[in-house]
Parts: sequence; C-alpha cells; structure tokens
Amino acid sequence: MTRFALIALLALLGAIPAAAQKGDRLISATATQLGGDKSRTRLSIDLSDVAEPSVFTLADPYRVIVDLPDVVFGGGALPHQARGLVSAYRYGLIAPGRSRVVVDATGPVAVEQVRTVQIDKGRVRLVIDLVPATRAAFLQKMQRDAPNVEQLPPAPTPKLSSDASDDRPVVVVDPGHGGLDTGAMGAGGEEEKNVVLRFATTLNNLLLESGRYRVLMTRVDDNFVKLDDRVRIARDAAADLFISIHADSLADPFGVRGATVYTLSETASDAEAARLAEKENRADVIAGVDLASETDDVADILIDLARRETKVFSMRFAHNLVTSVKPVIRLNKNPTRAASFVVLKAPDVPSVLLELGYMTSQEDLKLLTSPEWRDKAAAAMVRAIDGFFSARSAGGMLPPG
Ligand SMILES: [Zn+2]
Repeated sequence: MTRFALIALLALLGAIPAAAQKGDRLISATATQLGGDKSRTRLSIDLSDVAEPSVFTLADPYRVIVDLPDVVFGGGALPHQARGLVSAYRYGLIAPGRSRVVVDATGPVAVEQVRTVQIDKGRVRLVIDLVPATRAAFLQKMQRDAPNVEQLPPAPTPKLSSDASDDRPVVVVDPGHGGLDTGAMGAGGEEEKNVVLRFATTLNNLLLESGRYRVLMTRVDDNFVKLDDRVRIARDAAADLFISIHADSLADPFGVRGATVYTLSETASDAEAARLAEKENRADVIAGVDLASETDDVADILIDLARRETKVFSMRFAHNLVTSVKPVIRLNKNPTRAASFVVLKAPDVPSVLLELGYMTSQEDLKLLTSPEWRDKAAAAMVRAIDGFFSARSAGGMLPPG
C-alpha cells in the first residue's frame, strides 16, 4: 500500500467513530483457551457479544495476530499454556478500545478458519483454527493480507499547551511498555508496565508542580505505544530532554540489583547492556507490529552533527542523574552504560533510559512498588533535571569543556 493510500485509509477510519456508533459499549473477553495438537490447534476466545475480528500473520518470528475492535479483556490473568502449533500467546490493549491477541506459532501456519459460535445468551465463542503450512505459503498469505497490518492507528499524539511565549524546557517522560507488552515480570506477578507508569506519573507531577518545565508523557494509561512513536512524540514536541523509565529482569535473580542509566551507542558497553537493549527493543515484536523502517529523510550530515552534540548532552545528563539519585536509589555496580536502544535514537533530543532496578530482585521490587520510595526517587530525579538545565542555560548551547 502506498503512503497516500494508507493516509486515505486512516482518514477514513478516523471518520467512522466505531466505539461511538456502538454507544461506547465494549465487548468483554472472559476466557481464552487452546485445544488440539500439532496437526490442528484451536484458539478459542469467549466474548460477551459478537466482535468482528481481523486476523493476519507476521513472519520472523511466526505470529498470528487477532485484532478485536471494541473488546476489552476481563481482569485477572487468563491461562497462557503452550499447545500444538502455539508456543505462547498474549493479549491486551493495542490502542484505546482496541484489543489484540498475539499468538506465537512454533513454525509457519495457516489460519484454516475463523468463526463465531453462539454458546448461550450473552456469550459467543470466537474460534480460530491453525494448521501447519510451508514457509512459502505462509509468506505468500502474509503478503496478500498486508494492508491489514497497517490498520493500526498511530498512537494519539500527546500535546503541549500551545503558548508560543512559553519557553520553559520541554521534558518528555516515557514509561516503558504498555498494553499487551507487559515488560518484565516480578515474582508476585507484578508487571513492569504498571510499575514504570506509576513512577513516570510521579515524576511527571513533580516536574509540573515545580513550574519550571513543560512535561509530556508518551503514554498515560495502559496502552501500547510503538517505539518509533515514542521517539516521534519527543521530536514533535521539540523536547529538550527525553527520559525513558524501565525496570529490568534477569534470568538469574541472585544478588544482582540496582539502577542503571543508559545512553545511546551503536556498540554496547558490555554484554549485559547488549542483552538488555535487545530485550527492550522487542516491544513491537511482542505487540505484533511490524517494524516498517521509519527513518527520517533529513540529510545525513545534519543528523550527524546534531547527533554528536546530542550525545554529549545525553551523557552529561546521565552522569547528573547518577550523582543525584545515588543517595536514594541503589545503583548497579556499573551504573552508566551505553547500548543501541530504539527509544534513544532521536538525533536532536538528549535521551537516557533509566532502569530503576530489577523486577526479579526481591529488595528492588519492594522499593519499586513503595509509594514512599517512588516519591523520594522521583524528587532526586527532579534535582538532576534542574542541574542539567541550569548548567545548560549558564553555558549556552555548548557543553562545558
Ligand atoms: Zn523495560
């Protein structure tokens, strides 16, 4: 599909407020289940009413995506067992009022049928049958269905107040993950997406209360936001600082804890940094969004100049941050590192990614979920931000030698 056709399609979709037409009544999904075996695997989703699913596939890794407009998944964790041709699946919000199920297939599959059966009054079952296929057949079908992939609307762009005389610095706070991308998991089922949203909201409020900044969050609720969109939000707002908030997990939880501040580098500072960047960059794979290359068409040389200056500011802020939070936030033994995180790639916005601690460490998790700790840690971050901007205005645009 051409870009123009896509824009036309989005305009058309925007012109039809689907939820409003249904009187804002949302359909709820109450149960999901896998059945069958490697010759035919069935995914069933129980819904409170008939929903029109849109089913398509993505390759590398093999995934089947089921988009459900006007559907919300009921509270409580529904089981995620592996079975037959399905190694895992997850579900959640992809945009306001739009849910998505992402099914990880063990290999190339074909969607044999999608149908809805009435179970009883007020309950219908959406049935999706998968059968094995060849890679060639899978890719061919994916190509044919490609327009469906583009139906995901861009994230609603948060807006700053449009007062032209307001020249206070713009800080963009980016809570990691969201929607069906839950991020890391704590031992008690706590999800990174919620922990970091609460932290980011606290930081956002403190910055606003200070009156010194204009502040924007890349998400304010449990919605999925593509990595590229997070960068775009910062660039559209002409942000002076971008802070992405995360909380990592480790397969080996013993003894490792503490916060780390990351800046962008094409070469990771160590294996741990590389591993983490790879994991954090997988958000769009988790949510089933294909990473169309959305690089800007600005002249490379200008980007290069901006990037060099931005890198100096990013590193300076990273050091500020580590110094300011040291009394409050326990730091990893190697607290400033660099790696290739997608969200840090704006060439003209100083950007850092803060891993607050490890969801898999008991002690870290206790702090991460404590409101008192959150207040103290966010206040320490505000001091780092204050220091960064006062040094910057004192030194003009040039970083101090
Ligand atoms: Zn994360």
